[in-house]
Amino acid sequence: MYRLLLLVLVSSVCASPVAAQMSNQSPKILVVTAHPDDEVMFAATMYRVSHALGGSVDLALVTDGAGGYRFSTLAGAIYGLDLTDPETARTHLPAIRKRELMAGGLIAGIRNYMFLDQPDLGKTEDQDSILAFVWDRKFVAERLDYFLDKGDYDFVFTHLPIKPFHSHHKAATILAIQAVSRMDKNDRPIILGGFVTGMMDDVVAKFTELEGHPETRIFKDGPFTFDRSTPFGQDGRLNYNIIANWMIAEHKTQGTMQLFMRTEGVERYWVYQMNGRDAIGKTREMMKNVQEAPF
Ligand SMILES: [Zn+2]
Repeated sequence: MYRLLLLVLVSSVCASPVAAQMSNQSPKILVVTAHPDDEVMFAATMYRVSHALGGSVDLALVTDGAGGYRFSTLAGAIYGLDLTDPETARTHLPAIRKRELMAGGLIAGIRNYMFLDQPDLGKTEDQDSILAFVWDRKFVAERLDYFLDKGDYDFVFTHLPIKPFHSHHKAATILAIQAVSRMDKNDRPIILGGFVTGMMDDVVAKFTELEGHPETRIFKDGPFTFDRSTPFGQDGRLNYNIIANWMIAEHKTQGTMQLFMRTEGVERYWVYQMNGRDAIGKTREMMKNVQEAPF
């Protein structure tokens, strides 16, 4: 199966003449997230990388998403299942949410998916208990090592691990940073922490590192941004909030998420210090291309 994945990766890279350009102009990106729907945080950047820069975006999803049943009332009628029942959700939700994720991924231009199917149990802020007792940490680490080795990525996107965030988001970020840290320093992607404006802005503004996890410390340079409200199209009446809202709409099992549809938002990326200072300039250049490349 993984040989097949590699073939798909290699063939799609070879098929794109743009991919031969400098990596910051057509970057290869791996997004590491905990739940199906987390990827919406990076919606406009992923769209621009895939569709305007000729780059690529793959996604590694850590959990199976079975815990996202609490607000599935409206979606139950669509899928013909009482998805608010935890037992029904455990059986059916992982496959349904993968389809929702991939429907949104088609919009953003996500190329490949790696599903790690760890238990989506327990909403807590304690990422260390998730890593110690809920997920198979060794398995996830080995899979991330494999994907990173084979994918030849230029950048890895994670959620900025702010303390009041869901523990799964923080745990996925920690595992991704640790996986990149295990790679050869001269041949590894730059790993970034991302967060969109409009959610917990005051906490994000104060973030320097997640307590107990110095590997998450960020440089104060930045953030490097893409404004979803960047206008284009006839009379400048279109913008990239449309992309984020389209992706949200695909996650029909996530009822309350639909209320996050917005007409503004800036996707922001910070550089973790473990990358080294060289990563700052490269990230600045990549995000400048995301912002400015003609569509
Ligand atoms: Zn999530």
